[in-house]
Amino acid sequence: MEIRCTKCATRYPSDTRAWVCEKCSGLLELFGIPSFDASKIDSNNSSLWRYRAMLPLPDKATPVSMGEGWTPLIPVRYSGRSILCKLDFLNPTGSFKDRGTTVIVSAVQAFGVRHVVEDSSGNAAASLAGYAAYSGLRATIYAPAHASPMKLAQIEVYGAELCKIQGVREKSAEAAQSAVRQEGAYYASHYYNPFFVSGMQTTAWEIWEQLRRAPDVIVMPAGQGTNLVGMYRGFEQLARGGYIEKLPRFIAAQSAMVAPLALAYAQGATEPVPVEPYNTIAEGIANSAPVHGLELLRIVRKTNGAAIAATEDEIRSARLKLAQAGIFVEPTSATAMAVLEKCLEDIAPDETVVVSLTGNGLKTPL
Ligand SMILES: [Zn+2]
Repeated sequence: MEIRCTKCATRYPSDTRAWVCEKCSGLLELFGIPSFDASKIDSNNSSLWRYRAMLPLPDKATPVSMGEGWTPLIPVRYSGRSILCKLDFLNPTGSFKDRGTTVIVSAVQAFGVRHVVEDSSGNAAASLAGYAAYSGLRATIYAPAHASPMKLAQIEVYGAELCKIQGVREKSAEAAQSAVRQEGAYYASHYYNPFFVSGMQTTAWEIWEQLRRAPDVIVMPAGQGTNLVGMYRGFEQLARGGYIEKLPRFIAAQSAMVAPLALAYAQGATEPVPVEPYNTIAEGIANSAPVHGLELLRIVRKTNGAAIAATEDEIRSARLKLAQAGIFVEPTSATAMAVLEKCLEDIAPDETVVVSLTGNGLKTPL
């Protein structure tokens, strides 16, 4: 297993401190990782580590697990339709990010790293802070000062050092990267680090095990694109192994306030459209320049899906409507429901729809 640049193929050791290619700034990927093999699922393990044999960890690494993954997939009545909701907000720190964090923290423990740095609007940082506390790592988090007070409190209560950065989301990333360069810490970025992305594949494998097939449509919030790209790769592995016949259609949900992917999709562009980094209640997807945008756009087109934006009012109303159906999520997750409503007429009544509900409603009071 090694890390390679996706643009120029420069090789890096798996414990590299680089987060993008040092020569060309290309994204880094893991190569030589195991393929999906259903016979290797440890069905006695009711966490995502049931897929231990398929997850890329350095030799001799021990999983750092708080029981993440293997979340419920339940039917929910919404807008007159029965849809399946993947309750990923029920992970140990209240968001889907724990899927990536458990992999990255397990890897860095094996590398002998003692200090991790991350920037996030809240969920990824809270996740890293929780797993750092659990495993005795030092964590420094850069988060926008305007992020949800509950998320900022969650980061601090776990004992991480929290640096609140004024300005838009991107300012926190700049501050984190500059600290990594100066202090030599490990950048446990939830959108650059390939170990993190690999943990996202497990959602696809769980949905497949829970349904015994692939759904027809998957709707999920998309910011940097990590969750969607990871889930797609999980399904792609299932298709390659002959476990499913066709890939689901992937629908990426964005906030109309920050919609570089939805705009690109509407305009037929292959790259995210440059947009202003405005604030939105869907703070978890307020990314004006999505790191995985190119791959995400390729995926939604290849699978006959879409990238669509919802307004702040549509997101608020979807959040309330879903809560009144029994499921309380944060606004970022509700964006997927708001976008689903816009797409319903393009989805046949007998098609299976799965919505990935990523963050707990308790993180963002109404
Ligand atoms: Zn490169």
